[in-house]
Order: sequence, then C-alpha cells, then structure tokens
Amino acid sequence: MHALKELIENSVDAGSTSIEVLVKEGGLKLLQITDNGHGIEKDDLPILCERFTTSKLKEFEDLSSIGTYGFRGEALASISHIAHLTVTTKTTGSSCAWRAHYSDGKLTPAKPGQSSAPKATAGRGGTQITVEDLFYNIPTRRRAFRSASEEYAKILDVVGRYAVHRTGVAFSCRKHGDSGVSISTAANASTVDRIRQIHGSAVANELVEFSVEDDKLGFRASGFVTNANYHVKRTVILLFINHRSVESTNVKRAIEQTYSTFLPKGGHPFIYLDLEIEPQRVDVNVHPTKREVNFLNEDEIIESICSEIRGKLAQVDSSRTFLTQT
Ligand code: ADP
Ligand code: MG
Repeated sequence: MHALKELIENSVDAGSTSIEVLVKEGGLKLLQITDNGHGIEKDDLPILCERFTTSKLKEFEDLSSIGTYGFRGEALASISHIAHLTVTTKTTGSSCAWRAHYSDGKLTPAKPGQSSAPKATAGRGGTQITVEDLFYNIPTRRRAFRSASEEYAKILDVVGRYAVHRTGVAFSCRKHGDSGVSISTAANASTVDRIRQIHGSAVANELVEFSVEDDKLGFRASGFVTNANYHVKRTVILLFINHRSVESTNVKRAIEQTYSTFLPKGGHPFIYLDLEIEPQRVDVNVHPTKREVNFLNEDEIIESICSEIRGKLAQVDSSRTFLTQT
C-alpha cells in the first residue's frame, strides 16, 4: 500500500482539508482518492506522469524538498505503468474540471480511437485520482495479491495512521457497495478524538501526552501513549518521521523495553509518536518501498524520548497508587 501513502501525501501537500478513499476488491479493481486541495493546472496534465520532467527535476535537486521525506515519490508515474490511471482535477482559477487518462507515463485516450487530450468536465475544486485494474499487465503481481479483505485491512491501516496524524484534515475510507464508512474523521477532530474513532475508547481513555525536544540532537518529538492501566498483546505503534508514516524497529523495541517495568508480562502499549528530525540527519538513502528508517544519533534521540515517556508513566502510576491509598 505504498502507492496509497504517496497519494495521501500528495493530497496533504495540496492543502486539502478533506481526503476520501474509495476501494473495490481490496484496491485491485479500484482505488480512488478524492481531495479538496488546490488542484493541478491543466497545462501540467500532459507531463504529470513523466519521470524527471524539467520542473520536477528542479524540485528533485532542491535539497529541502528531498529532505521533507528523504526521497521523492513520483507516485503517479509509477502507477501509470501498472494500472489504469485517471486524474480529474480543478484549480480555483479554472471554470471547469479537467480529466486525463494515463498509461506508461503518457496521456492516453479514454477509449481507443479517441483523442488523448484532457477533457473538460464538471467537478468540484480539488483532485480525484482513480487507479483501476492494478497489475492488469503484471499477472504474477496480480496473483500474489492476497484476499480483498486482507488488502482492505492494509488500506484501512494506512488511512487510519494518516487520519490520526493529520489534524485539520477530514478523512474517510469506504468499501464500494458498503452503505457505511470504515473510517470517518472530521477536520476539526482533536488527536485524541481521532485515536478514539480509529482505535477505540479503551485506548483513548488511557492516553498520556508527552513532548520532548533537543536542539543539539536536532529533533522534536511529541505524541500520545497509553498509561499502565492499558495493555494489549501486540504493540500498536503509529510512527511519523517528518510527517511520513514509517517503521523503526529500534524505536519500537526501545519503547517496548520502557514499558516492560510498567505492564504485566506479555502486555504492550499503544504509541503515537510524531517525530521531526532535521532532514539532513534522516537517512536519505531510504527508498520509498523500504519503510524502515534510520537517522543520526538514533540511540541518543530514542533514549531521550523513552526517558520522557518513562517519566510520564511513573507520574501516572504514582498518582494512581496515591488515589487507591486514600
Ligand atoms: P512527486 O510528488 O514526487 O512530485 P507525484 O507523482 O507524487 O510526484 O506527483 C506529481 C506532481 O503532481 C506533484 O508534484 C504535484 O505537483 C502534482 N499532484 C499530484 N497529486 C496531486 C494532488 N492530489 N493535488 C494537487 N497536485 C497533485
Ligand atoms: Mg508525490
């Protein structure tokens, strides 16, 4: 579900306050992301799915933009090679929306024989990315696709992560044909409300907020973790580094270790950790398909975060003891 992450990032980057995801057959038949962001200029549509176009190349060399995530995405180009891609978009300045179809990085007609030029259409402000028939041209990848429900669970996991992290943005995720939505978060919902909606009240009622920063180590961390009243069989960790959902075995292990003195054996916490690190300290060799991230002074930064969490947990623990004593 690497592509979905990229698409959500694009929508967020476009200043969207609403991101809707629609899924058919676990994303194999259809994955559609609709946002209300600033849209794409009609003139940019012909080169939208080209790799390393001039304008993008300039961006590519711009270290600060590489630094944001440690790499550049090029999600649309990649998708156009493995699926039928349709982009419908409207900027505020445009009187109508424009729809374009792509194949192998280039504009393609909606139907054989038709023009491949973008077509004017009705539409709201923002962008809708429609990915259909994923891996239609790669049978081995298609066969490797697991069950639709398993794939949908992975999609919900990704949307759920960003829904917790991106306050100010409304998220929804829906399976085609279902009357209800699986995820529905209002734009003005707080982080705790977002955690409640996606992970339940049992988690949300036992959260401790923390934040810690260190200029010398070049980081700033904040988030919510469950206190000693709560535990589950497996750690649930939502880790964002520079606003990108990533994984770090080192971070996870260290926090689990921190909890071992607070939780019964086999009990694990819920962790939402929003970590910002000076971009040049994050491993820029991280490939978009590789989620595991490393960064400079990793041990020191992790220890600083764990010590902060340990302090918070001890506070809650002692107030609880105090309450039961009186
Ligand atoms: P990259 O993000 O690495 O530039 P992408 O293939 O993800 O490559 O997107 C290409 C470009 O298309 C983006 O740089 C952005 O200008 C534009 N774009 C993509 N998705 C959206 C969107 N949802 N809203 C507005 N612009 C978008
Ligand atoms: Mg992108």
